[in-house]
Amino acid sequence: MRNFSQVILDSLTDHIAVINNEGIIISVNKSWINFSKDNNGDLSNSCIGTNYLNVCQKEVKDGIALVLQGKETRYTFEYPCHDHQQLRWFLLRATPILIDDSGHFGAVISHVNITDRKIAELSLAQKEEHYRLITENSTDFISTHTVSGVYTYASPICQLLLGYHPSELIGKSACHFFHPEDRKKIKHFDDLSIKQHEIQTITYRIRCKNKKYIWFETKFQRLFASDGNYEEIICISRDVTAQQLKLMKLQAEKQLLQQAIYTDELTGVYNRRLFNKLLREQFKENQKLKYGFSLLMIDIDYFKQYNDTYGHPQGDKCLILVANTLKEHVRESDFVCRVGGEEFCILLPKTNKSKAITLANRLRKKVEQLKILHASSPASPIITISIGVSSIGKNKSSAVDAQTLINQADQALYKAKESGRNNVISQ
Ligand code: GH3
Ligand code: MG
Ligand code: MG
Repeated sequence: MRNFSQVILDSLTDHIAVINNEGIIISVNKSWINFSKDNNGDLSNSCIGTNYLNVCQKEVKDGIALVLQGKETRYTFEYPCHDHQQLRWFLLRATPILIDDSGHFGAVISHVNITDRKIAELSLAQKEEHYRLITENSTDFISTHTVSGVYTYASPICQLLLGYHPSELIGKSACHFFHPEDRKKIKHFDDLSIKQHEIQTITYRIRCKNKKYIWFETKFQRLFASDGNYEEIICISRDVTAQQLKLMKLQAEKQLLQQAIYTDELTGVYNRRLFNKLLREQFKENQKLKYGFSLLMIDIDYFKQYNDTYGHPQGDKCLILVANTLKEHVRESDFVCRVGGEEFCILLPKTNKSKAITLANRLRKKVEQLKILHASSPASPIITISIGVSSIGKNKSSAVDAQTLINQADQALYKAKESGRNNVISQ
């Protein structure tokens, strides 16, 4: 029987010894002996009959003693055992064992080679340390969030960028720090259509501890667990306030420039440049949608005489009044443009001829109602306008081109003048 258990012991690659309750080695396997030989060739401390506890350091001795006293059912201890050729780690394990029929307990001491696992653990720890160093020393702010945006990690640079200690962010929703006008941008966070590895970028204002806002550009990525479930969000953010302010200034300047390019300086309505552009666009759009549209060509009657009578500055005031009246009485979607000295064109998208004529007459009356005295006008004692109307009917987009439409309005205006002025004629 003893032989049988010895054979089993010897077949194990772990180094095993059995000790009695005093620590005396009473049995060892081949691996144990070979290991002792390999290590120092001296078996005097590790062979049967020697006290194993005498060679153990205090911590291990105390641990094994607890097992021998029946106070612990197991004791383990990891230790390095490097030689000059290789790194090695072992796991010492002490397990209680009944060693005779009179109920005496001893312990099985085994030493398991755990070098592979230890090396893997160390390299992982090294990697983690590496990433920690990168994260904590990055000038970009690195954070992780739950799927609903709550901070789970914040790199220390947040103190410098935002004034918050990481602990002031962790547990709070990122949304809480967003500028109210930018909060809708956070919806990207839980946008389930975003795929793994897809990097999204958002630019928004974030509130600092001093209550001021700075512009942040955040690149974020959703991380998925191995089962494919959406797990958390990793964000890399940087302060882009300076660039953003420059961009906004440029955009405002561009808008002003565009306004200046397309606005008539005297009256504030659109100018001829925009009229030409709008007309081209209307034709293009109408070619696709075929909704039809109309054009009003408006000219102030006997305006030369008005200037001659009341002076040029008064003439300017009159032009402003007429322009404002036209603008006031058209829809938001209509475009009033000053195309010449005292000439205006109004582009009326989605408006047929009869509606355009009705509107033209209304505008003509509105100008009359201004009751701007014009003593030298042969047509009327007050300022009046004449209007030529031309239209492109619904579904007849390609029949007419821009120039033809203008010519038609011009001819109609000419007829309105011929017919005595203060009149609307359509072509
Ligand atoms: P009609 O009824 O045939 O249109 O006669 P009219 O006198 O209005 O036409 P005409 O083309 O002979 O004269 C247009 C006048 O508009 C000439 C010019 O003095 C005046 N005018 C053009 N631009 C301006 C402007 O910016 N300010 C002022 N005050 N007058 C202008
Ligand atoms: Mg004219
Ligand atoms: Mg005129």
